[in-house]
Amino acid sequence: MHMMLDAAPEAKTFVTHLECGYTGERFEADTLHNLSSAGKPLLVRYDLAGVKAAVSKELWASRAPTLWRYRELLPVRDAANCVSLGETMTPVLPMPNLEKANGAAGLLVKDEGRLPTGSFKARGLVMAVSMAKELGVKRMAMPTNGNAGSALAAYCARAGIEAYVFAPEDTPEVNLREIAAQGAKTWRVNGYIDDCGKIVGEGKAAMDWFDTSTLKEPYRIEGKKTMGLELAEQMGWTLPDVILYPTGGGTGLIGMWKAFDELEAIGLIGSKRPRMVAVQATGCAPMVRAYEAGERHATRWENAQTIAMGIRVPQAIGDFLILDAVRASNGFAIAVDDDVIEAALAEVAKAEGLLLCPEGAATYAAYKAARADGRIKADETCVLYNCATGLKYPLPAMDQKLDRHQPIDYAALAAAG
Ligand SMILES: *Cc1c(COP(=O)(O)O)cnc(C)c1O
Repeated sequence: MHMMLDAAPEAKTFVTHLECGYTGERFEADTLHNLSSAGKPLLVRYDLAGVKAAVSKELWASRAPTLWRYRELLPVRDAANCVSLGETMTPVLPMPNLEKANGAAGLLVKDEGRLPTGSFKARGLVMAVSMAKELGVKRMAMPTNGNAGSALAAYCARAGIEAYVFAPEDTPEVNLREIAAQGAKTWRVNGYIDDCGKIVGEGKAAMDWFDTSTLKEPYRIEGKKTMGLELAEQMGWTLPDVILYPTGGGTGLIGMWKAFDELEAIGLIGSKRPRMVAVQATGCAPMVRAYEAGERHATRWENAQTIAMGIRVPQAIGDFLILDAVRASNGFAIAVDDDVIEAALAEVAKAEGLLLCPEGAATYAAYKAARADGRIKADETCVLYNCATGLKYPLPAMDQKLDRHQPIDYAALAAAG
C-alpha cells in the first residue's frame, strides 16, 4: 500500500495565529518566535471550523501511517518543507501478562521507541526543524538530556541546518555519540539541562542561532500533539480512562491535552478526557511537589538525580500548562524511586518482551503505585507512554560464559538465570 513513509501529503493548512499560553496575547503566524512577551510558551492556533470542513476520519485513514497524515492540524504550510525520516505511527500494545498479574482490564503501552532516533523526541523535532526550514533558519541550538539532541541533530542533518547541542556531562554516552555522529556540534557541560539552556540563551545573539529549547519554540508541542491524535485514532476515536506520562519539560502532556480539545472541536471525539497522570522520579519531582502544594507554578528542584534522564528536568517553563492539564483532567502527579523504576523495567521486559526505557518503566511503576493506593481502579483502561527504546540506555551486565572445549552440563543450564 503506502511504502513512502518519508513524504508528507499535500494539503491546505489552517494555522491562524499563535497565542501566549499564559496571557492569551496574540502573535502572528509565519514568522519566527520564541517565548511570548510575558516570557511564556506560545501555542499554535488553527481555524478549526476550516479543519472540520476539510478532514474526515476516512481521509486521514487513507494516508500513509505517519504523523504527517494529520497535516491539516499541523503548522507546516509547504509539504516540501516537511523534513521527514519516516515518522511512523507507533503501536499501542496490550500487555496481557501484566494485565493478568495486576488484575487489570486494559493495560496498554504506546511504544514510541520505534520512531526515528529511537525516541518520541522525533515527533517534536521533526516539526521544529521543518518550521525552521520553512522560516529560513540556518542554525539551531538546544540544551538536551540526550534524546532531543539526537533528534535535532538528525533532522538538521537532513534539512541542511547547522545544529549546536549542549548536554549535561553525565548524559548517556550513546546519546552524546549519536548526536555528534549525526553532525551536530556537541558539548558536554558540567551542569544540568537548565544550565545548558542558559548557555544557549546567552549565546543566541552572538551566534545567530535559533533557540530550540523545550517550549521556547512553538512547534515542538505541535509535533508531540500527534501522540494524542494517533492514540485517539488507534482507539477508534475514543480515549482511555488514564494516560500515564513521564514528565520532564511536559511537551507531550501539554501537546496531547491540546490535541484532545482540537479533536473535539472538529467533531472527531466527544468531551470525555483521560485523567492525565504526570509521572516523575523522586530524585527530581518539581511537578509532583507543586501539584501536592496546590501551586500553579513549580520551583526549581535542587540536586536533581535519577536514572531516568529524560525526566531529569529541574525546572520546566511550561509548568502551569502541565499542572492545569493534570488538574482539569482530574489526574494527579506521582513520583517513583529509581530502584522501583529498575524493577519495573525488568518486570515488563521479562513478562512482555518489551524493553522499555527507564522513563517508560517509571509509568508502569507509577501505575502499580496508583493501583495500590486506589487512585487507579482495576477496570480502568490505562495507556503508558514508553518514550524511547530501552536499547539507548545502559543495561544490566550479562556475564554467564560457556567453555565449548569442556563437557557441557546441559541440565545446569535450566537452573541458570
Ligand atoms: C524527553 C523525554 C521525556 C520527557 O518528555 P517531555 O514531553 O519533555 O516531558 C521522557 N522520556 C524520555 C525518554 C525523553 O527523552
